[in-house]
Amino acid sequence: MNNIEKWLGDVRSDEFLQGRFDMHVHTTTSDGLWSPTDIVRLAKERGLSGLAITDHDTLDGLAEAAEAAEKMGVKLIFGVELSTEVTEADEPYEVHMLGYFPGLELPDAPQLLARLREQQQSRRGRGLKMVEKLAELGMPLDTGFLQEYAENGSVGRGLIARKMLEAGYVQTREEVFSKWLGQGCPAYVPHQRLQPMEALRLVQASGGMAVMAHPAQAAHDELVPQLVAAGLNGLECRHPDQPAGALQEHYLQLAASLGLSVTGGSDCHDSGLGDFTTSGAELLKLFKIK
Ligand SMILES: [Zn+2]
Ligand SMILES: [Zn+2]
Repeated sequence: MNNIEKWLGDVRSDEFLQGRFDMHVHTTTSDGLWSPTDIVRLAKERGLSGLAITDHDTLDGLAEAAEAAEKMGVKLIFGVELSTEVTEADEPYEVHMLGYFPGLELPDAPQLLARLREQQQSRRGRGLKMVEKLAELGMPLDTGFLQEYAENGSVGRGLIARKMLEAGYVQTREEVFSKWLGQGCPAYVPHQRLQPMEALRLVQASGGMAVMAHPAQAAHDELVPQLVAAGLNGLECRHPDQPAGALQEHYLQLAASLGLSVTGGSDCHDSGLGDFTTSGAELLKLFKIK
């Protein structure tokens, strides 16, 4: 209990139980507008009890956020949002998996970090492969731009599309995807993405809790019981795509019927911090703190 007190404070107090935690927040470490320090400051200004930093496929912003949170007296939950894909379906679809790690120390997550690095390399490699295919198809692109992006982030199809437009190979962005880079097209190279089950295992192997993010975006509710069978801990029921109303009710009921913890988060990239939250009581349930 001592460690939990150090981390979350007096979890039996009304202040904690009724506290509001925004459990889904992005920073400049992925595609957010604010640095980890600035977003922690903003959380304090908005009167939040705490927040989870959940950048896409990286834990890199967490150390800075932890330092800021300690200074400012904001409770920080270490998190991540993993991009995964269900490829066995008729139409492959994307699922985002949130991972939350208890405690004041950065998660010890060697397997997860190794897999994220591998994924990033394959994403970079994927862009290069598509550029090679385009060259074979008579559309060479200056590859200087790839190096520049490979150093900072991923080389996605959006960037390649822009270069094709600039080179005059196509007239519109739509044409790029319908003729060349869309799934099944001559220059398309498939992703090597995480599967949701693998993401769940990686989070839990690092002592974390796995929560399916914004289930309305995947819109494949049949996946949820399968994830529960694999050990899923929670469902993000409150989210900008699932505002108060019928859809949110639907997910709250689904979570209840499957015995899942409930979370809420704003998915703040540049606005809306604190608009959707998780109560302290819900946080205790998620982390199985008795
Ligand atoms: Zn997401
Ligand atoms: Zn997100």
